[in-house]
Amino acid sequence: MGVFGGTRRWLYVMAVDGPLRRLRRLAAVILHLILFIPPWITVAGNPSLRLDLEARRLYAFGAIFTASDTILLLLILLFLAFCLFFFTSLFGRLWCGYACPQTVFLEEWIRPIERWIEEPRGRWMHRDQGPISLELVARKAAKWTVFALASFLVSMAFMSYFAGARELWTGGAGPVEYSLVAIFGFVWFLDFAWFREQFCNYLCPYARFQSAMTDEQTLLITYDIARGEPRGVPTAAETGGCIACQKCVAVCPQGIDIRNGFQLECIACGACQDACDDVLGRLGHPGLMRYTSMAATEGRKVRRVRSRTVVYASLLSGIAAAWVTLLATRVPFEATVGRSPGSLFTLDADGFVRNTYLLELTNNAPGADVPFHVQVEGVPGAQVVAQDIRLAASESRTVPLVVRLRSLPAMARTIPIRVRVATPGAEQLLETTFKTGGNFATVPAH
Ligand code: SF4
Ligand code: SF4
Repeated sequence: MGVFGGTRRWLYVMAVDGPLRRLRRLAAVILHLILFIPPWITVAGNPSLRLDLEARRLYAFGAIFTASDTILLLLILLFLAFCLFFFTSLFGRLWCGYACPQTVFLEEWIRPIERWIEEPRGRWMHRDQGPISLELVARKAAKWTVFALASFLVSMAFMSYFAGARELWTGGAGPVEYSLVAIFGFVWFLDFAWFREQFCNYLCPYARFQSAMTDEQTLLITYDIARGEPRGVPTAAETGGCIACQKCVAVCPQGIDIRNGFQLECIACGACQDACDDVLGRLGHPGLMRYTSMAATEGRKVRRVRSRTVVYASLLSGIAAAWVTLLATRVPFEATVGRSPGSLFTLDADGFVRNTYLLELTNNAPGADVPFHVQVEGVPGAQVVAQDIRLAASESRTVPLVVRLRSLPAMARTIPIRVRVATPGAEQLLETTFKTGGNFATVPAH
């Protein structure tokens, strides 16, 4: 038994061409552009897309989101999750076949490189079943070296969204970032070189629960049993039946034979459909694979609008509306107020009680400097010493805020106050308290 024998059934996936393959290639080009380009583009002085975990900031097309905008990010994630449910219920495993990074990288880079290094296919399979030879070692070493480079590239592209593309590619990122590149790169290498379709079959959570999102109206790749069977009979070439050429199996990246009925391993990539269209098309017949629903196959009514699609669409609309509303009413700066460390209050020699606070301001608006104006409410007659400051985009600053109130014989011990922080076009009210040292815990000062 050769080194690539054993219990694992290694796949020697044949290349295929056709309309669905071209569609997948187009999707892959768009996804590669999304992966590699945005971290290099700058908008208003910041990366067009970057999640800076250390600074807890998300830069997105000119806007800056901070921890206080977490709800917006959660809504986006929720929206994407329901998009997956919605499109799965309508079109089946579109994600798996056309957009999953594992599928895209394997089909666009890894398998073509592998075929280029290892083919012709017959010799490749024969070599893997034989003993270790110089040729086997040389070809494996060559392809694994290229896989390692591809893994590194993918890992760097992914980390560019977190560490910044320029910093990462010019050696300016920190050891943590490069360690993560090494870890992700290693995981990708293992996947490219060994794990592959086993990830879909054993690890992917989406593959496990996608069957709960589909029904008999969902589109999937199906085999025309009525015309195709029995397979390989002498008349098949004339009738358009299955001529048992096995090409649909040879091109399947999951190594399954869809002629045996729908299987959970099928990622709906359509490679078998392209293969069969090509084989039977040469004989003047349409292919036996179709991207259709079980209901259509069985001659029942096709219904695109069903209760589950309506529920998913309603949830998507609700989430989108909530997100737009929150974004429209979002204040583009962060402000927090806290008592200055030390005493709660100070009795000044002139008979005033003094409270000192620290006001922490962050400007999340991109572009020019923004002026901040601070006012205190809830303590009429108080003297307020507050700095009006200007902050550049992304700048944070902590400024002191002093509130003084004449001490009176009957004064509440604690007076609730509000700090109003305003910029042109936006404001925030911050709740805090003024400590007087008075004898009355609950009597208001005014
Ligand atoms: S490619 Fe078509 S004809 Fe060939 S084995 Fe598959 S189903 Fe049959
Ligand atoms: S059965 Fe067809 S559609 Fe399903 S994974 Fe295999 S090639 Fe792709």
